[in-house]
Amino acid sequence: MIIVMKPQASEQSIHAVTKYIEENGLQVHLSKGEEVTIIGMVGDKSRISTENLAIFKDVDRILPVTESYKLANKKFHPEPTAVKVGNTSIGPGNLTIMAGPCAVETEAQLMTIAESVKAAGATILRGGAYKPRTSPYSFQGLEEEGLKYMQEAKAATGLSTICEVVSLDAIEAAVKYVDMIQIGARNMQNFILLKEAGQSGLPVLLKRGLAATIDEWLNAAEYIIAEGNPNVVLCERGIRTFETATRNTLDLSAVPVLRTKTHLPIIVDPSHSTGSYKYVAPMAKAAVACDADGLMIEVHNDPAHALSDGPQSLTFEKFSKLTSELKPFCQLMNRSF
Ligand code: PEP
Ligand code: MN
Repeated sequence: MIIVMKPQASEQSIHAVTKYIEENGLQVHLSKGEEVTIIGMVGDKSRISTENLAIFKDVDRILPVTESYKLANKKFHPEPTAVKVGNTSIGPGNLTIMAGPCAVETEAQLMTIAESVKAAGATILRGGAYKPRTSPYSFQGLEEEGLKYMQEAKAATGLSTICEVVSLDAIEAAVKYVDMIQIGARNMQNFILLKEAGQSGLPVLLKRGLAATIDEWLNAAEYIIAEGNPNVVLCERGIRTFETATRNTLDLSAVPVLRTKTHLPIIVDPSHSTGSYKYVAPMAKAAVACDADGLMIEVHNDPAHALSDGPQSLTFEKFSKLTSELKPFCQLMNRSF
């Protein structure tokens, strides 16, 4: 349930309402917009009398929130959220580009990629140190050593960093070395991991599950936020369909759909969704055109010899061509980049 306060509601009136809700054992989520303040409630609503609440001073209206996700819900928080990651911010007005190798392979490899993606305009370096691959015999990542290389690349370039985590151990290590953690598609409904990510204190990029509906995805985000971590960014990375010409099917319509349902920032990953470097640039442009807040793109110094996801990785030249071609799209969409 949300309580919409009148436009000129005083601090005293807002306080009186929140006090009443908290005294009845429910949690309050306050959203102070430019026009109105919205007070969201989470908990057992049977303990609250809406008739009583309706006569509190400056209460305009009380509306039900029927969706099971509340804190991720746009009704609770109508203004779009910006999530700070290191020294950059993901959200309105910006186009954030996260780029880097699928997997951190060597210190030298990561450093050269970091320098190139930075020169081309990326602000966040991605690199997998824990690689849960489809086959157990594929390269599984450098683990903590890879995180250390991420930290070194950050120190050398000033880029913020993101790394996927797959376990509590990985989260504990990531907290020491990187600015943002990623929950991968295969773990989107690993609810224990989501709770631990919520307790990590780091911003979280939550990828959409391989076959997850938008509502399931938003409920997964709710798990993280409910642990007291509001810094969640969603990442559309393609879903499983009958089509085999691409690795997955990029559901770009998820971006405008999410805009109607949530205040959280949205990133699009044209690399894992298409699975081929040939399709990355057109889908990246389409993602900006449908108002995504950013992109996650795999870039490699030598895709033919990459230890993972070479076929979808862009070379430095292709990546830098793409970022310059994105500029007019960003201008049209009023996003700085
Ligand atoms: C990745 O970003 O490296 C990755 C494994 O992505 P996804 O979870 O979307 O497959
Ligand atoms: Mn990959």
